[in-house]
Amino acid sequence: MDIRSTGSRLLLLFLLLGLCKAHHDNVRSNTLISLNALDHLLEGDVLISKTRSAMKCFNKAYSCLWPKSANGNVEIPFLISDKYDNNERSMILNAMKDFGYRTCIRFIPRAAQRMYLSIEPKFGCFSLLGRIGDKQVVSLQRFGCVQHGIIQHELMHALGFYHEHNRSDRDQYVKIHWENFNDYYLINFQKKDTNNLNTMYDYSSVMHYGKTAFGRHGAETITPIPDASVPIGLREGLSKIDVIRINRLYECWSYMGITL
Ligand SMILES: [Zn+2]
Repeated sequence: MDIRSTGSRLLLLFLLLGLCKAHHDNVRSNTLISLNALDHLLEGDVLISKTRSAMKCFNKAYSCLWPKSANGNVEIPFLISDKYDNNERSMILNAMKDFGYRTCIRFIPRAAQRMYLSIEPKFGCFSLLGRIGDKQVVSLQRFGCVQHGIIQHELMHALGFYHEHNRSDRDQYVKIHWENFNDYYLINFQKKDTNNLNTMYDYSSVMHYGKTAFGRHGAETITPIPDASVPIGLREGLSKIDVIRINRLYECWSYMGITL
């Protein structure tokens, strides 16, 4: 994760703690913080391995993809930190299981595999991009990141997917308001040479950021075009096109034609 100023981190922490304190446990966790606060939690949430760029990840013979098992599924071992409570743990497990209903991705409890996802409550929500070939941390901070859509967002990064608004063809679908965010955040709005897998630009993707992501004082930074009213940044969970992309990237042949 990018280095942030201590002040802004503390401010966010206090915001989160305050909001969590103000709500009771029976309030769904996704109502605890505003979408804008979520944007801050997701700032710079995709980490690129120092030895591999995103472009290579997408273009070099799928070298950063998780391998297929003999049964045709892609089994991804995971460990969940014992710092989560039972409710959080079941939220994480449910978000993982959802991949298995619609794709050939199977998150399986780690036995002794060398490559695996370690789900841990570090500061913020973040993940490496694609498989790195060893233990790799997916951070889901408690009281903020343990939400169905965010869990799936970070797992999508671990599968090798970048943000939707960074797509190579995004300028046909969204307008970026460069004047409304600090230069520090430029990297979050740069186009990437992505493999779009012959799928349409997807406003409803769980990988799409919201309209005010990184905006100064809540200013709009991403506007859908031509219809500015199209919702983005919902992060409720995998969209239909997210599912199609996973199946195409991982060649989940038996899931290609299912009704989503
Ligand atoms: Zn992300």
